[in-house]
Amino acid sequence: MTSTSLAPNRLGPTITIGEILVEIMAVHRGDGFMEPIELTGPYPSGAPAIFIDQCAKIGGSAGIIASVGNDDFGRINVERLRADGADVSAVSVSADYPTGSAFVRYREDGSRDFVYNIAKSSAAQLSLTGEAKALIARAGHLHVMGTAFSIPGAWDIMDHAIGVIKNRGGSVSFDPNLRKELLGQGDMLARFARLVEIADLILPSGDELFVAARVDGEAAAIQALFSHSATEIALKRGERGSTFYGSDSTRLDCPAFKVEEIDPTGAGDCFGGAYVACRRLDMPADKALEYANAAGARNVTAKGPMEGAGSRRQLDDFIANTPRAAL
Ligand code: ATP
Ligand code: MG
Repeated sequence: MTSTSLAPNRLGPTITIGEILVEIMAVHRGDGFMEPIELTGPYPSGAPAIFIDQCAKIGGSAGIIASVGNDDFGRINVERLRADGADVSAVSVSADYPTGSAFVRYREDGSRDFVYNIAKSSAAQLSLTGEAKALIARAGHLHVMGTAFSIPGAWDIMDHAIGVIKNRGGSVSFDPNLRKELLGQGDMLARFARLVEIADLILPSGDELFVAARVDGEAAAIQALFSHSATEIALKRGERGSTFYGSDSTRLDCPAFKVEEIDPTGAGDCFGGAYVACRRLDMPADKALEYANAAGARNVTAKGPMEGAGSRRQLDDFIANTPRAAL
């Protein structure tokens, strides 16, 4: 399967909606923040921001609807996104709330302790502004991040964007990266199910596949997802690479690149940003998957959630010079 049902890049930018954050990381592994420790940051972050940064950096047309505070944590993000080529015209600046933040410390076993300020930060202050409407009106593709489901204002924007973008021949992708416990709250499950139904492309990782499909077993889950609108699924397997499934029964496995993992945060978002951009630029699935794998792998080699996002040239160099793991 070389052709894609995703709308071409020339129809308009890939847009996403959701949180922009800074991440401040403990330099050393250990438990929590109960004593003074060495920290590094702020690093630009937020799953939708990482996605859109990689999407723009590899050459896709890209924009984001988000909100930052009137502070340096906001400016560091907006400047990075702008420098990497993303349209930031629909990033509003809140006069009342600071930019969202996440303090993170890795434990020895690789799990993480967090201190978040998202719900009471500018990240949660999303509304359908004039600038957001204008960006949506010229967009060609909407990428929905499960993480944005916890932002109340994001839902109205998503609904509006899905209507407008589908109406002008655009497409939708869905990364179901939502904590399972959240699915029980309010009409979250119905929203989640609706996105699974309308998305042209779904990009699950690990158990998210079974949560999205509501069946166990990879083959059964893939089949269940194809019973709706999806025409392609890009399954992320961490250090085991990724798999493309097409609704015409194509399956393509792409081995992972062998890298030293410094910071795993953001791999899935970079994978998604590169994959969507490449497919919309009309690359065949195997090529798009290779760039996506490279984008995810390169990103884990750098400290900071989006520090390892790569340009097309950087990813070409990475692909040429990095060994691959066995499938
Ligand atoms: P995140 O961990 O950021 O939530 P995710 O779970 O959605 O991301 P992953 O499967 O972890 O997604 O990573 C996406 C892709 O990045 C993988 O399919 C793989 O190609 C690449 N990748 C991630 N981690 C590694 C690694 N340690 N070594 C090589 N490649 C990796
Ligand atoms: Mg992962």
